[in-house]
Amino acid sequence: IPTLRLDRLLANLGYGSRREVQQLVHAGLVVLDGIEIEDPDQRIAVTRDLPERMQVQGRPLDPPPGLVLMLHKPLGVTCSHKEAGPLVYGLLPERWRRRDPALSTVGRLDKETSGLLLMTDDGSLLHRIISPRASIPKRYHVTLDRPLKGDEGEIFASGTLMLEGEDKPLLPARLEVLSPTSAHVTVTEGRYHQVRRMFAAVGNHVTALHRNRIGALDLPEDLEPGQYRQLGEADLSLVL
Ligand code: URA
Repeated sequence: IPTLRLDRLLANLGYGSRREVQQLVHAGLVVLDGIEIEDPDQRIAVTRDLPERMQVQGRPLDPPPGLVLMLHKPLGVTCSHKEAGPLVYGLLPERWRRRDPALSTVGRLDKETSGLLLMTDDGSLLHRIISPRASIPKRYHVTLDRPLKGDEGEIFASGTLMLEGEDKPLLPARLEVLSPTSAHVTVTEGRYHQVRRMFAAVGNHVTALHRNRIGALDLPEDLEPGQYRQLGEADLSLVL
């Protein structure tokens, strides 16, 4: 179990500078197992249950490093600092945006795509999930401008579909038709605007795109757009 000095732990979680969190401690505002901590240098074993045991200013400690979130990304927010518009990070508590290590999105959804987005501060977990070798299936609900012709499923499954401007065909993807103008598409890659470009390649146009599953993890029905939830070990095992 990793240990950290209390002032370092709290500063890394965004509670303030080292100086500021030392003042919190000296003011008796940091409590562990019911006892006020007096020494900001005290080493703390950073365990998952720490928020149940430690209070800061009377509130449970924020989740320690190793945090994994699922977010219902709404339309109109971006995953990238390079894009214009409000960021997904703005949906999280303000203090969480100052965490070190920082939270980042596990892959990206387009600004105009909604649905299940994972976020984590665990770099090795992030790379395990987005690694092409992991080839984790991601399922999208697609709404189309024009009726499906009937051969799209075969084309997507073929492993020969070439996207404009690329030189490697897409890996096989699965199409489940839901209605003439809606379908589920499951892909294992994450190329730029992949699903939209797949339908462009077969002469259609995506009018709405929503991711509802990563691996075996479904976007919960009761998680509203803009809401997020911490992922436990059991949920995580559905992804990897
Ligand atoms: N494919 C897209 O075109 N956009 C996304 O956001 C995700 C997959």
